[in-house]
Amino acid sequence: MRIPMIAGNWKMNTTVGEAVELVTEIRKGISGLHDVERVICPPFVSLAAVKEALKRTSIKLGAQNLYFEEKGAYTGEVSALMVADLCEYVIIGHSERRQYFGETGEIVNRKVGAALKVGLKPILCIGEKLEDNEAGRTEEVVTEQLRSSLAGIDVCAGLVVAYEPIWAIGTGRAAHGKQVNATATLIRRTLAELYSQEVAQETRILYGGSVTAENIAKFMEQSEIDGALVGGASLKVDQFTSIIRQTESIFFPNNPPTKDLIPW
Ligand code: PEP
Repeated sequence: MRIPMIAGNWKMNTTVGEAVELVTEIRKGISGLHDVERVICPPFVSLAAVKEALKRTSIKLGAQNLYFEEKGAYTGEVSALMVADLCEYVIIGHSERRQYFGETGEIVNRKVGAALKVGLKPILCIGEKLEDNEAGRTEEVVTEQLRSSLAGIDVCAGLVVAYEPIWAIGTGRAAHGKQVNATATLIRRTLAELYSQEVAQETRILYGGSVTAENIAKFMEQSEIDGALVGGASLKVDQFTSIIRQTESIFFPNNPPTKDLIPW
């Protein structure tokens, strides 16, 4: 069985002090929940402090980016090995990086390769623009992004794919559960073509795009969606803890119920 996963992408938010405060509150809010894998992705400068705050918990740490070169004169960049020193996961190819920092498919591919080489688990983000969606090109765009991101990579153990339609990110306009399930099925089929049925069945596929405590259930109830990458709502303790709590009760209905802070 694929272990469900909820990852919080804090983007460029929180000072170090705020990050520690936030993660401490989140930790308290989800104590007793262990079956869903929980990952926090704070800004680079807060990784060490957040790691310390997560000591003796099973909550994992992720970075939001890396650079593909191993070392050298790349002022301001952070290598995969540096990230791997602190984190188990790394977000790669987020649409904001593609849009604002010119990350091409080739760059994303090199970053995925660099992460896997040092044992980091990439959370690879793919997703179509609104105009592609409206023109019925979602399948084509998503398949092409997945193929180019993984080109020349023979082993992708630990890879997580986050399907994030760009028009749904930070807009409050989430996709429909059934449509996301259909795209996740396509992603799995493409992984089977690139690797094997086994890899396709083992790889977790997350949905991302305006996930909240109010809409998480409609995604987690779909057969091919294994979790969520959460942006805005991961900065709100009540929202994020409820998203994790609801995910755990959907995937593990026999676990004893724990109390939600707010009845959504
Ligand atoms: C994201 O940053 O990956 C994301 C999905 O953001 P939001 O949840 O705010 O739409």
